[in-house]
Amino acid sequence: MAATKATKAANSASSATKRAIKKTAKKAVAKAATRSKSPVVSKVAKSTPSKATLLKPKLLKPKLLKPKLHKPRVGAGLLEDVAIASRVLARHQVLDAFGHVSARSDRNPDHFVMTRSLAPELATPADMMEFDIDSEAVGGDTRKPFVERYIHGEIYRTRPEVMAIVHSHAMSVIPFGITGAALRPVYHMGSFLHSGAPVWDIRDKGGDTDMLVSNRYLGRALADTLGRCACALMRGHGFVAVGSSIAEATFRAIYTDGNARIQLQAESLGGPINFLSDAEGRLTTAGNQNAMERPWNLWKQQAKRKA
Ligand SMILES: [Zn+2]
Repeated sequence: MAATKATKAANSASSATKRAIKKTAKKAVAKAATRSKSPVVSKVAKSTPSKATLLKPKLLKPKLLKPKLHKPRVGAGLLEDVAIASRVLARHQVLDAFGHVSARSDRNPDHFVMTRSLAPELATPADMMEFDIDSEAVGGDTRKPFVERYIHGEIYRTRPEVMAIVHSHAMSVIPFGITGAALRPVYHMGSFLHSGAPVWDIRDKGGDTDMLVSNRYLGRALADTLGRCACALMRGHGFVAVGSSIAEATFRAIYTDGNARIQLQAESLGGPINFLSDAEGRLTTAGNQNAMERPWNLWKQQAKRKA
């Protein structure tokens, strides 16, 4: 009996302890709940976004990432012609994913237009950016420009009569920039080469570089080598062709490539090449300038049909 009493007493004491523990725990929970109802927490709770807001969170809108555009203040026809020239040269394989075309502004002779950094075959008027004479984008345009825009700016600075420029990496001209063999006019379409096609070596002024004309200093050095010529080769890189119109620069770029191909073929046959004389070069160039509209109109129509 004594043992039973002792057991009951022990059980009773245990139940009392359990009740005491439960009571303490309840108090702690109540205290925590009161604390969680602080003004700050309540405010946050009240401003909890609706389901619709959560599905369209304002912070995720890429407003800050959107580049700022500036529509070039030039004639609409000029923008279209630069885009067309880009596509024409791509389809003639004078430009590929790289290379570019520019035109001097018809409103401000210190400015020029070219596309944002883009494969030329994809060029449209909406891709055009306007640059000042230092080759910097105007109007706060934050789209990505071509790294080598300095080629264009520095040639426009030194050659006031130049209205359009093409920079190409055509493989046909590369051998002439690395061997010392001069690119010279071998047929009438390449007659403008009578003015010479000097080779510019970026290493002369820039030392070891990534081969890109990525600043005004290098652009000016290239422009100096070009001098009064219609075309200059860039050692291990490509060439630049200039013209008094977009049509002429396009024509010269296409036929620089054509002349280089023919000259290489002729040299493979052996024997001396019978080049055009300087007089033939001058006369033929004048004749071609008078006929410039014919190929340009054809190329424009072809580019528009295939657009
Ligand atoms: Zn280049």
